[in-house]
Amino acid sequence: MSEFERITLIGIGLIGSSIARDIRAKGVAREIVVCTRSPETLRRAEELGLGDRYTTSAEDAVRGADMVIASVPVGASGAVAEQIAPNLKKGAILTDVGSTKASVISQMTPFVPEGVHFIPGHPIAGTEKSGPDAGFAGLFKGRWCILTPSEDADPDAVARLTRFWQALGSRVDTMAPDHHDRVLAIVSHLPHIIAYNIVGTADDLETVTQSEVIQYSASGFRDFTRLAASDPTMWRDVCLHNRDAILEMLARFSEDLAYLQRAIRWGEGDKLFELFSRTRDIRRSIVEAGQDVEAADFGRHALDDKS
Ligand code: NAP
Repeated sequence: MSEFERITLIGIGLIGSSIARDIRAKGVAREIVVCTRSPETLRRAEELGLGDRYTTSAEDAVRGADMVIASVPVGASGAVAEQIAPNLKKGAILTDVGSTKASVISQMTPFVPEGVHFIPGHPIAGTEKSGPDAGFAGLFKGRWCILTPSEDADPDAVARLTRFWQALGSRVDTMAPDHHDRVLAIVSHLPHIIAYNIVGTADDLETVTQSEVIQYSASGFRDFTRLAASDPTMWRDVCLHNRDAILEMLARFSEDLAYLQRAIRWGEGDKLFELFSRTRDIRRSIVEAGQDVEAADFGRHALDDKS
């Protein structure tokens, strides 16, 4: 039996459409209502058969839903909450998938009506692609989903949302929003910023031509370009909405980079070797934790298939 009668998805890009595909595949809800702001994306979602009903009106979309999932850029969370608030059903769960949590909570909470369970969430799964075509069933399988409920959140609603993500194959953890933002700043936000920066630097170099950058990219650069191809709107919003944690991690990063720079300048091979050995162990731990496989893909598989 379906756990939910009606789930409304606000936003049907990479994450929203992957959720839609999984809800359907796992039979988690009897009815899926798809809502997105542009008629073009809505049409595409309909062509892909992602839902049972389709609308560009967020106000209408949430009527009668027992769960509403907002999968929009974090900077749009407040506006979405304001639009849907008057029509949210009493007892419904309102959640999101945004990559930052404290900011989403401060944007959405003021609009959440009495009797609606607002439980913010963040599935730690994704790719550098966006839009409804980019989503796929199974994206969340074996991945963590972090929930950041308030201290007075209804335990039954939290348990229900936990079961939802588990039905999609996720492992679920809960933590405080500020803690989430600091953890994600180091494991996700900083790596993307570094990638954007290094690819930007290569693009700006006058002594190395564009064609050389592309031709010889296999020597490390290519792996950064995958991250640096991520959606500009999403990542602009992440930077603006997790500013403090990102700046804190960037300051730490700059200090450590100065240490590395100094070791290189003074030929301190032992220091370099010690650091590079420590980081190699982290890679091993990630593989052991099942968060990657030994032969990481980095998009090469598709390349091999073409050749
Ligand atoms: P996406 O593929 O670009 O899809 C974005 C969706 O949000 C589209 O339906 C789009 O509608 C809608 N949208 C864009 N701007 C909006 C606005 N100002 N107001 C209302 N709707 C708007 O994005 P995504 O990758 O699914 O990301 C969605 C959320 O998931 C973000 O908060 C992101 O931080 C989070 N997240 C992303 C990843 C990842 O790897 N991508 C992983 C975990 C969490 P139209 O197309 O109709 O304009």
